[in-house]
Amino acid sequence: MKRRILLIYTGGTIGMMKKYGSEVLIPFDFSNIINHIPEIKLINANIDFYEFENPIDSSDIEIKDWKFLASLLKEKYEYYDGFVVLHGTDTMSYTASMMSFMLQGIKKSVIFTGSQLPIGELRTDSKENLITSIYYASLYQNSQSVIQEVCLYFEHKLYRANRTTKFSSEHFDAFISPNYPILGESGVNLEIFNENLFKPSSKFNLNTDIEPNIDVVSFFPGRNKRLLEYSLLNSEIKGLILRTFGSGNIPSDKETIDYLKKAKDLGKEIVVITQCVRGSVSIGKYHNSTIFTDLNVCNGFDITVEAATTKLMWLLGQKYKSEDLKKEFESQIAGEISVY
Ligand code: ASP
Repeated sequence: MKRRILLIYTGGTIGMMKKYGSEVLIPFDFSNIINHIPEIKLINANIDFYEFENPIDSSDIEIKDWKFLASLLKEKYEYYDGFVVLHGTDTMSYTASMMSFMLQGIKKSVIFTGSQLPIGELRTDSKENLITSIYYASLYQNSQSVIQEVCLYFEHKLYRANRTTKFSSEHFDAFISPNYPILGESGVNLEIFNENLFKPSSKFNLNTDIEPNIDVVSFFPGRNKRLLEYSLLNSEIKGLILRTFGSGNIPSDKETIDYLKKAKDLGKEIVVITQCVRGSVSIGKYHNSTIFTDLNVCNGFDITVEAATTKLMWLLGQKYKSEDLKKEFESQIAGEISVY
């Protein structure tokens, strides 16, 4: 049976062309993509296209675009069997992570993809990425989508999107999923690793409420304490992601500890993640992380910074606070965190 697939184009390198008379890449309209990929007509699926009014470089993505995209996916949900979203690679992991929270309990596949070279270039990686994403989005068994989650497909690998991070600005293999195995791999056969797929238990629901006033504070040796105070205690801030060393360690000087205590007293929600790409936070393993036990902050375990920021914005948007927010943050919503 021919599956119905909606291909959504938001922008990104895949559809870019060089600005007339220069080497600078700018987003171009969707016909540019379709004209370069006649093979798309040979795929055994009914494909419809939806183009963002103004395709963008994904560095320009904003909260309003996330809300629009999630609402669009919900609106089209019952009319299609699967979705492929073309998006710039720079912030693809952020947008896709946010979709996994806004579209909780989704029972169809949403596959994000893009490319490192524009579709008009001879050596482009876009065709394989696009065609295989459509194949993955079309996979059905017993009248159900095989993939019931938001994924990211790039350079022969299918990932859970909210586990990914952009790793290379120049290799075709641009993404990694440092703390979760891949969901599929395309070689001669299109492989899918069923045991790694997310099994949604909640009902499909769209919820686009977000609290944007969060910040990511990254520790580094020699960080100016005045600036740290400013970042932690700014009155606008509702939530903080702390990018700590190793398994959750920070400097143990009195000023740092006092600012953190004050931030907590002011009701700011605090999440601890690690600057390490691979591995997990382990609060209390070293003396330099025991402050986080005392303050009872959220443990981000092995979550990526992309999933942590979008999850915190989303949970705060749902009006979760203190203990409830901690409980939710430390649980899986869409398979984004390994809970030990
Ligand atoms: N700057 C581009 C974007 O994120 C990069 C890409 O698509 O690979 O839109």
